[in-house]
Amino acid sequence: MPIEITILGCGSATPVPDRNPSSQFVRINQTGILIDCGEGSQMQMTKFNVKHSKIDVILISHLHGDHYFGLAGLISTMHLMSRKRKLILAGPHELWRLLEDHFLVSQTKLSFEIDFKPIHSPKEGLLFENEDCSINTFPLHHRIPCQGFVVKEKQGGFHLIPEMLKLYKLPITKLKELKMGKDIQLENGDIIPNSRVAIPPPIPHSYAYCSDTAPFEELVTYIQNVNLIYHEATFDESLAERAHQTFHSTAKQAATHAKDANAGKLIIGHFSSRYRETELLLNEACSVFPNTIIAKDGLSILSE
Ligand SMILES: [Zn+2]
Ligand SMILES: [Zn+2]
Repeated sequence: MPIEITILGCGSATPVPDRNPSSQFVRINQTGILIDCGEGSQMQMTKFNVKHSKIDVILISHLHGDHYFGLAGLISTMHLMSRKRKLILAGPHELWRLLEDHFLVSQTKLSFEIDFKPIHSPKEGLLFENEDCSINTFPLHHRIPCQGFVVKEKQGGFHLIPEMLKLYKLPITKLKELKMGKDIQLENGDIIPNSRVAIPPPIPHSYAYCSDTAPFEELVTYIQNVNLIYHEATFDESLAERAHQTFHSTAKQAATHAKDANAGKLIIGHFSSRYRETELLLNEACSVFPNTIIAKDGLSILSE
């Protein structure tokens, strides 16, 4: 099943009227994931119909303000709305101290539990999984510790063909093995190949979020073959030196990562506020990786 991404903010450090700082909502089956939560993300959620009650997991890539200044406010709203469901929150380990101070000084005892998963960057590996998806994290190359995320759909079981099950009179006790893709041996010794009675599940979809980063070779090893990548593209090629100094990427560098990772589709975002129009950035990215989309606040994209 495709993963759906809704861009809530695709700006960088300074907000501009139609471009909020970083935030996006990712829906994978029944699981809702908010990635980064820049200032103003709550208003964007209201504007683009993303309900905070649908958020199960929040991921924060790093502690530059344009990626998390909206978080305390969002958690506060969840509390005021009497949320009871546990919230999974993963981010830099120092984040917890910042949040605790917020709620300590305002004497707020949250109405729900936060299961905080501290990330000690550089870290590579599994952060969270449930019946819908797994979330892995990987290190990026930025001025302060920064992590990217890969959200991957869980592999579904084989689809059984009811007519064929009837034809072979297969007992119910064998269905579990068939769903796992196994061949079945009948009591008379006959072997029924799985391919006669079941269809393999579709290849699971995957999505990679590459937050603030300078380009580096190993990045593509973490995001190989994903269906969709969001990658920062703060600058155009004429400002490559500025990108290098500030540990950011140009649109062309983002596209090179997507190409080298053999990705299906690329969304570029995190644009510097100096760009009123983003066509230049799109053109530069498309010259390397044609299947590139320009992020826009409110845009929804599927991983297919
Ligand atoms: Zn940023
Ligand atoms: Zn940053």
